[in-house]
Amino acid sequence: MSKRFIIKPWLIVGLLLVIPTSLFTAIELLTLNDQEEVIESIYTKQLESVLSSINQHTDDIANNWIDDHESNTDLSKLTGTFEESLSGFPYIRSFILHPIDSISLNLGSFSISNDTLKKEIVNQLLAHNNEIEQLKRYIKSGYRKIIGIDLEYQQHLSMLVYVSQVQTQTFLNILLLDARQFISEVLSPRIQMVAGNDLIIVVRHNKTNELIACSLLNEAPDEVVKEQAIWLLPDYYLGIQPVGISISELANKRATQNIGLLILVDILLITGAWLFYRNVKRELHLAKVKSDFVSNVSHEIRTPLALISMYAETLQLGRLKEESKRQKYYNIIYRETQRLSGIVNNILNFSRIESGRQKLSFGNVNINDIVEDVNNNYNYHFNEKGFTVDTDINHELRSINADKQALTECVINLVDNAVKYSADTKKIHLRTGVRASYQFIEVSDEGIGISPKELKHIFDKFYRVTKGALAHHAKGSGLGLSIVNHLVQGHQGKIEVESTEGKGSTFRILLPINNSAKP
Ligand code: ADP
Repeated sequence: MSKRFIIKPWLIVGLLLVIPTSLFTAIELLTLNDQEEVIESIYTKQLESVLSSINQHTDDIANNWIDDHESNTDLSKLTGTFEESLSGFPYIRSFILHPIDSISLNLGSFSISNDTLKKEIVNQLLAHNNEIEQLKRYIKSGYRKIIGIDLEYQQHLSMLVYVSQVQTQTFLNILLLDARQFISEVLSPRIQMVAGNDLIIVVRHNKTNELIACSLLNEAPDEVVKEQAIWLLPDYYLGIQPVGISISELANKRATQNIGLLILVDILLITGAWLFYRNVKRELHLAKVKSDFVSNVSHEIRTPLALISMYAETLQLGRLKEESKRQKYYNIIYRETQRLSGIVNNILNFSRIESGRQKLSFGNVNINDIVEDVNNNYNYHFNEKGFTVDTDINHELRSINADKQALTECVINLVDNAVKYSADTKKIHLRTGVRASYQFIEVSDEGIGISPKELKHIFDKFYRVTKGALAHHAKGSGLGLSIVNHLVQGHQGKIEVESTEGKGSTFRILLPINNSAKP
C-alpha cells in the first residue's frame, strides 16, 4: 500500500473538519473585541439616556415651578429679594428679581442683605455674563433657559439663573436653593422609579464625593459604569451601575465561553482526526505485517517440508545401500522435523499468548539443566553449520521456581537467532550465573549485531529487521523475541540485550531467585 493512500484520508479530514473550525475560532477571536465594543457602546448609550431622563426631569421641575410662579405673581410689582423660603418649596432659599436693561446687567442696584453672598453672586454673574446675554437673546425669541451656577459661599447652596420678560422690561431671576434638600426631596423619588430593580443610581457631590442620594438604600456602589453631571446643579453628578453582572460583562463571558467551547471542539476534532489517522496507519501496518507473516511462515515451513519429503522418498524407494548415508538422511529428516515443530510451537505459543490462554506450569528447575539440554540437543545442528559453542556454567546455582518447558523454548529461540544472525564468525557462548536477586541465562554471538534504532523494536510482535543481506535472507516469523519476552515476564523476570553492529549480540534472561508463583 502506498504512502499516498495513508496521507489522503488525513488530508480530507483536515480539510473538511479541522481547518474550517480552526478558521472559525480564529475569526471569532479576532472579532471578539469589535463585538464587545458594539455591545459596550449600545449599553453605555442606554445608561446615558437613563441619566439624561433624570436630568430632563430636573429641568421640568424647575420650569414648572417658574411657570407656576410667573402665572401667580405680578412680576412688574415684584422687584427685589425675598430671603425667606417660598411657600410650598422649602428647598428654595431666596428669590431675587432684578430688572436689567438690554445693554448691561447693571448689578449696582442689586440688593441682598449678606454682603459676602452678594459679592459672590455678583462675581458669578459677571463671570457668566456671556451666558446671561444668551439667555436674554433666547427669551426674546420666546425660549426660556435656566442655567445652574454653584456657589462657594455655603456648601450645597446653588443658584439657578434665568431671564424673564414682562412687556418691555427684562428681569434677571436668581433662585438660591439648597441643592441637597432639592435632590433628596425632588430627585430621589424619580431616581428610584427610573432605577427599578436592575440599576442603582446615585447622586454625589463632585468635589467631596459625598453621597447625596441612592436608589438602593445602604447599597451605594463605590464605582459606577457611567456618570453625568446634573445640568442645573453642576457641582453634583449622577452615577449609574447595574445590579449584578453588566451587559458587557455578560457578553464578554458568553463570548469567552463560546470561544472556549470552540477551542474544545477543535481539540476534540484534531484528536479525533489524529486517532483516525493513527488507526488507519496502524491498520495498514497490520495488514502489511500480516501478509509478510503469512509469506515468511509459509516460506519457513516449505523448506523443511520439501527436505523431509525428498529424503523420506529416497529412503522409501530403498535405493540407499550404505547405512551411513541412510543414517545421514534420518538425521536430516529429524532435524527438519525439529525445525518444523519449533515453528509450529512458536505460532501456537503466540496464539495462546494473544488469546490469554498461555499458562505457565511452575516447578523446581535448575537453569543449568535447560542450557545443557539445549546444547546437547542442538549439538549436531551446531556442528553441521560450523558453529563452536562454549558454555560457562555456574554449578553453584540452586533450583528456582520456573516453567522448564517455557524457558527451554526461550533459550532455543535465542540460540536459533544466534545461529541465524551470525555471518563469518560462528561462535556462540552460553553462560549461567547470579546477579543480585536474579539467576541468568546468557546467549551471546559474534554475528551481525543490531542497530540502536532497531534494538527498540525487536521485542515487538512480527517485528523483523530486513536490512542487510543476512537479515534479509534469514527466515523467521518475527515472533520469537516477543514470545521470549512474554514468557520471561510471566516469570516476573527481565530480558536484556546488548548489541553492537558488526560485532555481535548478547541476550540475557534474568529470573528472580525467589519467585513465589504457584505451580
Ligand atoms: P525472527 O523470526 O525474525 O528471528 P525474532 O523476534 O526472533 O524474529 O527477532 C526479531 C529481529 O531481531 C530479527 O528479525 C533480527 O533482525 C533481530 N535479532 C534477533 N536476534 C538477533 C541476533 N542474535 N543478532 C542479530 N539480530 C537479531
